[in-house]
Amino acid sequence: MRILVTGGCGYIGSTTARHLRRQGHEVVVIDDLSEGHQAAWDGAMHQLDLRDADAVQAFALKAGEFGGLIHFAARAYVGESVEQPLRYWRANLVPVLHLCEAFPGLPFVFSSTCATYGEPPNEDPLHEQLPLRPVNPYGATKAAAERLLQDRAVASQGSYVALRYFNAAGAEPDGSHGEAHDPENHLIPRAIQAVQGLLPGLTIFGNDWPTPDGTCVRDYIHVRDLARAHEAALVHLGQGGESVALNLGTGQGASVKEVVQAVEAVSGQTVPCEDGPRRPGDPSYLVANPRAAKEILGWEAQESDLLALVQTAWNWHSQHPQGYRS
Ligand code: UDP
Repeated sequence: MRILVTGGCGYIGSTTARHLRRQGHEVVVIDDLSEGHQAAWDGAMHQLDLRDADAVQAFALKAGEFGGLIHFAARAYVGESVEQPLRYWRANLVPVLHLCEAFPGLPFVFSSTCATYGEPPNEDPLHEQLPLRPVNPYGATKAAAERLLQDRAVASQGSYVALRYFNAAGAEPDGSHGEAHDPENHLIPRAIQAVQGLLPGLTIFGNDWPTPDGTCVRDYIHVRDLARAHEAALVHLGQGGESVALNLGTGQGASVKEVVQAVEAVSGQTVPCEDGPRRPGDPSYLVANPRAAKEILGWEAQESDLLALVQTAWNWHSQHPQGYRS
């Protein structure tokens, strides 16, 4: 299949683009390089700002036919979205509209998030029938984009799969390719950077949450598992499958403290830590019920062991302490 991948120089986007290419697909990437890294993807790449409707239309006119579109390009920091909500609405919703207008009918695989659910009603893993009640602008922009795609599908103007990622983590096991954000906000890379001495220490955002050890619980899903799910979603749509939103997670939760322990076990060093205040916009508990993705896409996480996952992240960060600049 010839596949258009937006945000293909980012962390999940480039991992997926490389996976698709390995599977024999032709991949064309769009990225504005605001967050992504040119070095993360060495195939066809168009530098384009998806907020610019004319630029997207012009690209669509000359780009040729695609069998599917995977839209990763977005901003994805909960804390930043609370501080800069308008920036998030423009970055995360407007490009979806422009892509739908420029590529009528094209099967659309959308990077969504468990942040669309908001604060879960109880301690059960989250399933897709729950109402979407995002508690931060990031989750709200993604929920709105899902709604846009749903309306398009209902009007028979193109099918979609929205993939609600839980916490993407991990890297290629050989350490050749991984996560590089500047600044880095995510827990696993920050804990590793604290061990490496690249951060003065790790602040744990709240130790008084209503969870077993008082720190937030998340479902860490290996980025390589996410990559496989995107291919499965395109195959599903290519076979005329229904439009649907699906969780991508392992079904297992890990607390911030458990992640810190995993980084200590893998690195053999202590993570310098201090307790800090809660981070605005954080729900306490986000764990997936991943059953629907298995039923509909035949997909399930294969690399769900937390220690093994952290090991792959450690391999990447120890070989690339400065990310793609290393
Ligand atoms: N977290 C933390 N300290 C950090 C970064 C993150 O305690 O320096 C916590 C954060 O509050 C959340 C969890 O780790 O409960 C995962 O955060 P991350 O930013 O990695 O992903 P998110 O869940 O926001 O998508």
